[in-house]
Amino acid sequence: MRWTRSLIPTLRQVPAEAVVPSHQLMLRAGLIQQVAAGSYTYLPLGAAVLRKVMQIVREEMNRADAVEVFMPTLQPVEWWEQTGRREAYGDNLFVVKDRHGRHQAMGPTHEEVCTKLFDAYVSSYRQLPLNLYQIQTKFRDEFRPRFGVLRSREFQMKDAYSFHLTLDGPGGLSETYDKMYDAYCRVFARCGVPYVVVEAEAGPIGGNASHEFMIPSPTGEDTVLASDKGNYAANVEKCEIGSREISVIFSGNIAPGMPGAKYVEDSPPTGELAEVHTPNASSIDDLCKGWSTFAGGKLKPSHTLKTLVFKAEGDLTTEEQATAHKLRKEYGFENDGFVFYWVAVVRGDHELNEAKLRQFLTSFHGREMSLKSDNIGLSLMDESEAKSAGFPIGYVGPHIVNDLTTGVAARTYVVIDPDATHSGFWVTGANAASQHVMHFNWERDYQPKEQFHRTQVADIRNATEGDPSPKDDGGVLRESKGIEVGHIFKLGDKYSQSLKVTVLDENQQEVHPLMGCYGIGINRIIAGAIERDGGNDDGGVVWPMSIAPFHVVITPIKYEGRAAEVANELYEKLQAEGLDVLLDDRAERPGVKFKDADLIGIPLRLTVGDKGLANDEVEFKPRTEEKAEMVKLEAIIERTTAFVREAM
Ligand code: ATP
Ligand code: MG
Repeated sequence: MRWTRSLIPTLRQVPAEAVVPSHQLMLRAGLIQQVAAGSYTYLPLGAAVLRKVMQIVREEMNRADAVEVFMPTLQPVEWWEQTGRREAYGDNLFVVKDRHGRHQAMGPTHEEVCTKLFDAYVSSYRQLPLNLYQIQTKFRDEFRPRFGVLRSREFQMKDAYSFHLTLDGPGGLSETYDKMYDAYCRVFARCGVPYVVVEAEAGPIGGNASHEFMIPSPTGEDTVLASDKGNYAANVEKCEIGSREISVIFSGNIAPGMPGAKYVEDSPPTGELAEVHTPNASSIDDLCKGWSTFAGGKLKPSHTLKTLVFKAEGDLTTEEQATAHKLRKEYGFENDGFVFYWVAVVRGDHELNEAKLRQFLTSFHGREMSLKSDNIGLSLMDESEAKSAGFPIGYVGPHIVNDLTTGVAARTYVVIDPDATHSGFWVTGANAASQHVMHFNWERDYQPKEQFHRTQVADIRNATEGDPSPKDDGGVLRESKGIEVGHIFKLGDKYSQSLKVTVLDENQQEVHPLMGCYGIGINRIIAGAIERDGGNDDGGVVWPMSIAPFHVVITPIKYEGRAAEVANELYEKLQAEGLDVLLDDRAERPGVKFKDADLIGIPLRLTVGDKGLANDEVEFKPRTEEKAEMVKLEAIIERTTAFVREAM
């Protein structure tokens, strides 16, 4: 391409609205233009990179036996209701109303449409496995679109959906999952971006096994924890924690599945339980900040107990209703539904992990009350509702269960993270507005009215730097940031169940096929390539050869006379070799051309000037090298093509 015929609006200044390097440089290098919050036009250079990434993804999908289809953006919202995802996606789902008043969802992902597609044409196990993919625009009404194309409201995704009769064995879900895992590794390696694979939470997609592919970067929005032994890495949303010490007074209350608990003796209270007046200090932060005025001295978050009140609710299935009357009195069941309150307690400097809480809670209710796990909705209680149930949000202490009124008491449970079970100097809510207590001691002050078994100890917090690895091999977890560029899931039969899709198996029995789903964020690979270590420098972008908009830029010092002739000749010849070549035919000063070539990050620059041409030489300068080299005209084509092919 000739520069003068293209549209490459480079900027010298860093645009004020951009805070991360990829966003700044994508604007400065003329790759994108913002149209509205979270939507972007890809200009010629950006479009070229987009196309190259898509092509690599396409080749690797085809190689993994996935077949390409193209599904629509507009989807019947009823399908989203059938799978329960209209609610799970919430406000992130764009819904439009057509002229007839019908609602359509604008696909943020395509599980429903693809499962319906499968249903229409596949009826026998003989047609399995089947893996369908597409590369297409997705829409998500992100709460905070930011960081340029890293989190936008409209973006390109490669999404694939696979269908199977079995989990294991030939043609099974695990086989395809592993194939896709390998294909993803090849995609990211070919795109020239470093990546780590981590265990992940399934989120609103549903399912039970999943991995994310992350580009390590300090600007990433995801937190990754990896064992320093190198044998475990997970997203913080999912990361388990190795065995921790638990106060011996809770030894009968440990949730199953907790990694080997170590019990420690409890020590005596640090003092009399004392109330402290703490106005406007409903958060741990405000409490610690105001402590010197409230009580004198300093208070660290690690000496506070943070309590969060959740509501677990759901409808009873007919089956459950039949047994409910037995449980009604003991557990406070309604006729056709249930509501339970959970007070979750973590140390003040720790973060509660909702996914862990949800998982613990569904297994607890399943075990204790035979409630179906996918029946239970969990939500943080809103303040007014909590207040009327007797929980003064912001000032709740675990000992609230000592004196709740019967109705609420029968429905209230407490779950404590191991690190919060110990004795020591604790400050926690006093269960009255604007009041806290200090010297709280579990053994002395926590006397639940209802059975003690309603108190559970479980891993309910986010793992953090320095925690023991869940492998329990002496490994220590280290925290870092990453950009999620890919995500693969074993879905199981969530979608084939809810959309009532079956195939006939070998015995002519109707069964729900098992599914996997696999996503790649195309735009994030591009931004990630810039964010990666070595992906940018003071001069601008440094593209990996495989996804660079052009392999080579030819820069005549002056586009006239012999320099122009030679530049034109190189331009033609290199293109004939199959290279993507940009010819800077502008009437700009050489300094400007060099700066722009660096800014847009073309991996190789060939500079054609009268001085070199006097010796039949042109200047050969890789983007990553400080110094240029003079190469004879007769050797330049071969040298250049070899350089490009080697770097692909
Ligand atoms: P995130 O947690 O970052 O919101 P997600 O887990 O919701 O992403 P998936 O549903 O797994 O995303 O979608 C598959 C891939 O699509 C992601 O791995 C990511 O690379 C990309 N992606 C998701 N949301 C966006 C977005 N708003 N902008 C750009 N790419 C996105
Ligand atoms: Mg994801």
